[in-house]
Amino acid sequence: MRSSCKGSPLEAIQVIRGMRDLLPEQTAWWRRMERELLGVLERFGYQELRTPLLEPTALFKRSIGEATDIVEKEMYTFQDRDGGWVTLRPEGTASAVRAYLENSTWKKEPVSRWYYLGPMFRHERPQKGRYRMFSQVGAELLGAGEPAADVELVDLAVECVRAVGLSDVTLELNSLGCPACRPAYRERLVSYLGAQRAGLCELCQRRMEVNPLRVLDCKVEGCQRVAEEAPRILDFLGPECLAHLEAVRAGLEALGHAYRLNHRMVRGLDYYTRTTFELVSGGLGSQSAVVGGGRYDGLVAQLGGPEIPAVGFAAGLDRILLRLMELRERPAGPPVLFVASHGEAGSRAALPLVQRLRRAGHKVVTDVRAGSLKAQLKRADKEGARLVLVLGEDELRAGEVSVKDMAAPEGAPDKQVRCALGDLERVVGEKLGGV
Ligand code: AMP
Repeated sequence: MRSSCKGSPLEAIQVIRGMRDLLPEQTAWWRRMERELLGVLERFGYQELRTPLLEPTALFKRSIGEATDIVEKEMYTFQDRDGGWVTLRPEGTASAVRAYLENSTWKKEPVSRWYYLGPMFRHERPQKGRYRMFSQVGAELLGAGEPAADVELVDLAVECVRAVGLSDVTLELNSLGCPACRPAYRERLVSYLGAQRAGLCELCQRRMEVNPLRVLDCKVEGCQRVAEEAPRILDFLGPECLAHLEAVRAGLEALGHAYRLNHRMVRGLDYYTRTTFELVSGGLGSQSAVVGGGRYDGLVAQLGGPEIPAVGFAAGLDRILLRLMELRERPAGPPVLFVASHGEAGSRAALPLVQRLRRAGHKVVTDVRAGSLKAQLKRADKEGARLVLVLGEDELRAGEVSVKDMAAPEGAPDKQVRCALGDLERVVGEKLGGV
């Protein structure tokens, strides 16, 4: 058929650049990863929050910050039909805080533990591990300013990546201080960067004025050299921020979580205060951060609420999965029962049998095309069936079904047995019991 389309003005429509289809061989991995992650979050007492994918643009401008890469050039923003500006969410924290305020959650409970899961949208340059639509699992703890909250979040993030089987991650920790100690640091940094201007990339020369901290985590080699020698924020922390950091470090040490202090880890969003952290996985090249998070004590007030401290993180599922597929065995599904039939009466009898077995909790596949028994058995093989149940004329006359155990060695006495239709669940159960 394809050749007849040659020269046709109809071009094939393709997926949007930076976005992907997840086909069944990938979704099996995704589902396993999500199950394992959500299990950890639930065990830590976090509850799921679901917010719309579309939010008023002002929400992200006001929270993430006008001078950040995300807001400046990465958001999918458009005018809604009624003229209002809306944006596909580029991250989850801003929406969580909006929902927290809109539902007056802070009046109902002193501490809230929320998690969310779903797609985020950023118009970045696509590459391995970086997409324009990607998925995050995030956790937010609102209502506690104590270092114990930071420790809980880091611990939760570590347990999440551990539960899915990522073993080669390192924890990087930093403190960005607070509005009291950051201005002095910023001033010193700007004057240092001013003297090093020639060594910075074009973008960082601009960043220097609007968002100088971002120069510190630029990936360009020259900028990295400049950043390495830059004044360190940790030397500028006031006594309270310093005590907070020390308490977080002590908590992490008590839990046995090794970490590296990284004074250049500033994160891309404006709302962070004090603790920031990342989990970095060895094999992902430049896109090596699988989790990023930190404290954002000013954000709730910035969005019009009371002064409520909070801390959170987001894990990038696409990146975690890329690593897992390199490290782990393909997830195995439940055993498949394949029901094959012969003749009209056979296929009529097969239908209720398939229904019965599915209702009993089995995964049952059958060939809906009217094919020969041989073709059906081939199909069963393709499906990786563990048991093949055959309803032929012979079986029907006797009120029985043949059960072929594909895992038993050829010629074994129990390779193929016949059993009464009414006894099938018991026989199937016995055979699968040995799986
Ligand atoms: P952020 O929301 O920028 O703090 O990022 C948190 C995590 O989300 C990162 O550590 C990544 O794992 C993931 N992430 C961020 N941006 C992307 C992207 N464009 N593609 C895939 N994963 C991303």
